[in-house]
Amino acid sequence: ITSDGKKRRVMLKLSGEAFAGGGGLGVDPDVVHAIAREIAAVVRDGAEVAVVIGGGNFFRGAELQQRGMDRARSDYMGMLGTVMNCLALQDFLEKEGIDSRVQTAITMGQVAEPYIPLRAVRHLEKGRVVIFGAGMGMPYFSTDTTAAQRALEIDAEVMLMGKNGVDGVYDSDPRTNPDAVKFDALEYNEVITRDLKVADMTAITLCRDNNLPILVFELLTSGNIARAVKGEKIGTLVND
Ligand code: UDP
Repeated sequence: ITSDGKKRRVMLKLSGEAFAGGGGLGVDPDVVHAIAREIAAVVRDGAEVAVVIGGGNFFRGAELQQRGMDRARSDYMGMLGTVMNCLALQDFLEKEGIDSRVQTAITMGQVAEPYIPLRAVRHLEKGRVVIFGAGMGMPYFSTDTTAAQRALEIDAEVMLMGKNGVDGVYDSDPRTNPDAVKFDALEYNEVITRDLKVADMTAITLCRDNNLPILVFELLTSGNIARAVKGEKIGTLVND
């Protein structure tokens, strides 16, 4: 709850890779349950939470293209992968006693609602978690861009990007360079000119042009989702 008594509405972007646990592929229910517990805690605390999950634990269109497949079709496979992640998260949120709705950008009435922005907002106001699946329904886009676009459309105040195995934005890859330096804060234009790996460029420019702050943080550290939602100083904050 913010100082003016309004509920905090946040967009949480979860990496698909994290959902795979150590396996790299598919869904590890233990990991998804742990994430669901954390989301449940912040919802009980009064935050309104919308979620976009990547699909890197199933397919990335660009990777399939490199291996000879048609790009647009591969991208649709990627989008369909994200839906499985959405259903897994929905299941564990339900087990935690939190109501949720999955809304997909590709209509699939048997498993999810279609994406209806005003309805999504209504769900949030009722304390339900809204999980957006199938990206934007368009090839050549990413779930980072989806998260930024949905965040803007539902008027979320920040995009929280939970990453797998990295606790913020560095000047070089901390996994290969032990001297890599972490940024506490960055401006959008620094991210763009230094080509820092925060999100893809389409997502970054969309956030910059509409003043949507981005917080990059380590997803699987216990308690981090709550810290991010509360605005504690973790990770790297990107804004103007
Ligand atoms: N995708 C797409 N359009 C969208 C969102 C996603 O085509 O609006 C496809 C794209 O092929 C992407 C895949 O879905 O590679 C999985 O999403 P992403 O790579 O963003 O997942 P993450 O890396 O965050 O796990």
